[in-house]
Amino acid sequence: MNRRSLLMALSLLSLPSCRRAPPKDPVLVIGAGVAGLSAAARLRRAGLPVVVLEARDRVGGRVHASTTFAAHPIDLGAELMHGRGIATWELVTDRRARTRPVSNVVERHAGQLMPFHGEPSDAVATAFVELVAGLPSGADLTLAQAFERLEPRVPPEALRALRTQVSLDADLETMSARAVLAIVSDPNREGGDFVIEGGMSGLLPALQGDTRVRLGFVVEHIEVLSGGVRVTSKAGEVVAGSSAIVTLPLGVLRANDVRFSPPLPTQKREAIEGLGMAAAVKLFYRFSTPAVRAGTDALVVDDALPRFFWVGTFRAGGEQVVTGWATHDDARRLLGMGETAALTRGLEALRHALRSNVTPVSMRWSEWESQPFTRGAYSMTRAGGLGLRERLATPTEGRLFWAGEATALEAEASTVHGAFNSGRRAADELLRG
Ligand SMILES: Cc1cc2nc3c(=O)[nH]c(=O)nc-3n(C[C@H](O)[C@H](O)[C@H](O)COP(=O)(O)OP(=O)(O)OC[C@H]3O[C@@H](n4cnc5c(N)ncnc54)[C@H](O)[C@@H]3O)c2cc1C
Repeated sequence: MNRRSLLMALSLLSLPSCRRAPPKDPVLVIGAGVAGLSAAARLRRAGLPVVVLEARDRVGGRVHASTTFAAHPIDLGAELMHGRGIATWELVTDRRARTRPVSNVVERHAGQLMPFHGEPSDAVATAFVELVAGLPSGADLTLAQAFERLEPRVPPEALRALRTQVSLDADLETMSARAVLAIVSDPNREGGDFVIEGGMSGLLPALQGDTRVRLGFVVEHIEVLSGGVRVTSKAGEVVAGSSAIVTLPLGVLRANDVRFSPPLPTQKREAIEGLGMAAAVKLFYRFSTPAVRAGTDALVVDDALPRFFWVGTFRAGGEQVVTGWATHDDARRLLGMGETAALTRGLEALRHALRSNVTPVSMRWSEWESQPFTRGAYSMTRAGGLGLRERLATPTEGRLFWAGEATALEAEASTVHGAFNSGRRAADELLRG
């Protein structure tokens, strides 16, 4: 055997799908969000038959756009690519989609408009990293506790800037400082955020390829049997599989909407209960002429609700859509008001930020709390909760494999690229047998 054929034989041996004959029953993938579609693509590429079961009448899950609100699709869920090095750039390349960085962020603080990312912020960010990385092994803090410890070490203005920045996406009172350290230390995140021409939902065709999805199949019961798995829908339809990849959102798992037989092990239940589910609200304002002047990508407002806006429109000039963003307590306050009052409140905040009485031609919100197939926006790690995502990701009974943003690596959780990578990881685990 020459070197080339030896290498070829070795590479075949290392291909998990070649170690055994393809199973008769397909692999069932539960959920056609980013994680489910990415898992299905990986399995199909390895030659396995796959059936994807999806409750909604569409694919994409939390990646979904309205095509009627504005001249271009607006993402009601995920919208931003978080970093220059994340895996989902391959989908952007596949679609040949253009992107634009959300780089020029200004802040209205104490009546002044100022650049958001100043020198002091970088210094305090370094102090935060040193503090959390220096904690004894196993120890953790909430973000609020971490900021309290930073107070004597850094100038108050610098700390205020960091607190503002972090609180736009994180709940200071509960969220793990170690989890935030994992996120900010991820080199793939470098370069900041990007919007995509055609929206995040424009990437779905590249992800789905020719994978067929059974839509409107609301999974109610997942059973692990001696020779495989059996999945029953709310309508009573039964589908048999050799094994399954479960990508149900954490909110759905927490609500016990899907029954498992045998019941999930304690470790898994503890992970489901221990991780938190964040709330998020997006407020969309469509203007016939630009309300935010060219050159400004986003606005932070320190004393308003919501406190963050960005320009969602890809092209400058003509129609402009400005998106308001609120998470956690801010989001719950807006949710409590209802859509009309929340939009009015958000418009006041935007006018305050711009110091201009701008008037949109239409407005709408999006929220995911009331959606039965999501039940919240995305998962979050509470202080002391490191390791729960790994537990959630651990295969069960050798037949159930777990994917979805909540099972992703800490640095990638709660994102589209985290969901994407988790689907691939779960597929690889299944293929390895
Ligand atoms: C408002 C908002 C803004 C966001 N912004 C960003 C962003 O800018 N950038 C970013 O990277 N991430 C963002 N995210 C997070 C991102 O959307 C998610 O992390 C990612 O899309 C999750 O993918 P997933 O496949 O894990 O879950 P999902 O997309 O939720 O997919 C799960 C699928 O399971 C289906 N399902 C549920 N129950 C059942 C059932 N009983 N039977 C069958 N199917 C079922 C669902 O319908 C869904 O299709 C945002 C999320 C929200 C809500």
